[in-house]
Amino acid sequence: MSNNSENGDGDLAAEMPPLLEAWDCNKVERRTAADGSSVWNCRQPGCNKEFKGLNSTKVLAHWLGTKGKSIAKCKGTIDLLDLRRYKQLHNSKEVTKIDKVKKDTQMAMEIQDTQAEVVASLTGHPPDYSTPNSIVLPTRRRKSPTDGMPIISLLGNGPVGFASAASASTITMSPPLSAAKKPRIFGQPKIFSGAPNPQAEKAMDVAIADLIHSRGDSFSLSNCPKFVRVLNCAKMIPSTYKPPGRNEIGGQYLDELYENTMVKTKTALRTDSELCGLSVFGDGATMKNSPLVNVLGAGVNCPSGVLDIIDCTGHCEKGA
Ligand SMILES: [Zn+2]
Repeated sequence: MSNNSENGDGDLAAEMPPLLEAWDCNKVERRTAADGSSVWNCRQPGCNKEFKGLNSTKVLAHWLGTKGKSIAKCKGTIDLLDLRRYKQLHNSKEVTKIDKVKKDTQMAMEIQDTQAEVVASLTGHPPDYSTPNSIVLPTRRRKSPTDGMPIISLLGNGPVGFASAASASTITMSPPLSAAKKPRIFGQPKIFSGAPNPQAEKAMDVAIADLIHSRGDSFSLSNCPKFVRVLNCAKMIPSTYKPPGRNEIGGQYLDELYENTMVKTKTALRTDSELCGLSVFGDGATMKNSPLVNVLGAGVNCPSGVLDIIDCTGHCEKGA
């Protein structure tokens, strides 16, 4: 059976409070499967299908048959009143999403304006609001075999591009999502032909300083080799690049970097260890009230390698 269609009767929906989340509906059941994983079951009459994970957006997409959410449409019979509430919830989530984009854009504009004004104050030039988002090539263009190849450098003296004769100097990451609504951002592209561009360099300086100040990072971060590496990588990526999200950074990238570092550390410690021996040492540290013990190893090829960081919270709780 397919879902009932909405009959447009608004009185029914008025009787029920709106859903704040799909989980608030009694037609879905969250539970833990035998293997310990989280699953949910659709309890619409005639469905009872089970799905892995706990994603409320998918629950709603299942009921509403939303395309592109990687979930099958519910084949049960959905009550008209429920269907109306699901649509209301979906709409309110869409509004929230749009509000967030608006807020993010507003914040991006404020950051850009503030930094442009600081640059102007430092250089004595009028504020150049377009500098941080200047692009060399139009965003809409025919694809060429060089798409994705580095074409421009971030600052005036960066690597010469491959795709264009102009070793231009200004580029940024993709502009904020709805930045297009503010026309001045996408003004005439600026090409500096490799000439030094003090405004662009100062804009970069201010952007770095502002980032460090607002996140409370160490002032020396700007000279950290890993930060310099970020700047160098930024010169080589296309303007369509989007930075990884927090889940990717805390997921695949963390796992991969951890594994790589551990393998290298252990290899360095083991090399010539039979001849020269190994030392194990450590110290304690408190990070945001978490008592930690660092275990380090030292060998002839590795003066200091972190082997483990042990969280002693449980030990302290026992009072031992
Ligand atoms: Zn279902």
